[in-house]
Amino acid sequence: MSIIAQNLRQVKATLPDNVTLVAVSKFKPIEDIQEAYDAGQRIFGESKIQEMTDKQQVLPKDIQWHMIGHVQRNKVKYMAPYVSLIHGVDSLRLLQEIDKQALKNNRSINCLLQVHIANEESKFGFDKEEIINIIQEPLFNQLANICIKGVMGMATFTNDKTQIKTEFQTLKNVFDVLKMQQHRLFDIQILSMGMSDDHNIAIECGSTMVRIGSKIFGNR
Ligand SMILES: *Cc1c(COP(=O)(O)O)cnc(C)c1O
Repeated sequence: MSIIAQNLRQVKATLPDNVTLVAVSKFKPIEDIQEAYDAGQRIFGESKIQEMTDKQQVLPKDIQWHMIGHVQRNKVKYMAPYVSLIHGVDSLRLLQEIDKQALKNNRSINCLLQVHIANEESKFGFDKEEIINIIQEPLFNQLANICIKGVMGMATFTNDKTQIKTEFQTLKNVFDVLKMQQHRLFDIQILSMGMSDDHNIAIECGSTMVRIGSKIFGNR
């Protein structure tokens, strides 16, 4: 068995049945993704639209491609025909562009709202206070070709497990609040949190989707 297949098996063994694994293949070559595919993995996460699109064109068509990185509005059109889930939606303007491109492709695009939970300036996302009010926004209510599947967040880059846990609990709370809202654009099921170094804490806090790269493909 290849190293990647072994890593994949080890990671999957630690995940409860209700937790979906996104194998984060950013910066990794086609061959590595093919190895993970041959070992049964079908969901892959990429952080750059151009790179994801190049890979999508040559790899098997039953792969579900997740965009996990920061999304520039002018590049949404390249992934709109095929993207399975966009994790990093952090503004209404971006949602409007996704909606427009989804319509052009005659489909609906699944999105997660990114919530800013880390105490770092550099991480993108909505504030937890503003996200709960989004369904009151007139611009939001004009959308028709998107489906909000849940929320995504990244904890602070720190060794302080207590802090990471607190941040994940914050995201879980936002998820629970959104889940109780009734809205035609909502189908809240996904709590995307947890990476190679913190997925165990994330799962403890209720994660339903982990995004794991280096533990599967090695360091980048
Ligand atoms: C790179 C990345 C990951 C995976 O990180 P690892 O530490 O390699 O598991 C997860 N989520 C996002 C948003 C990323 O950019």
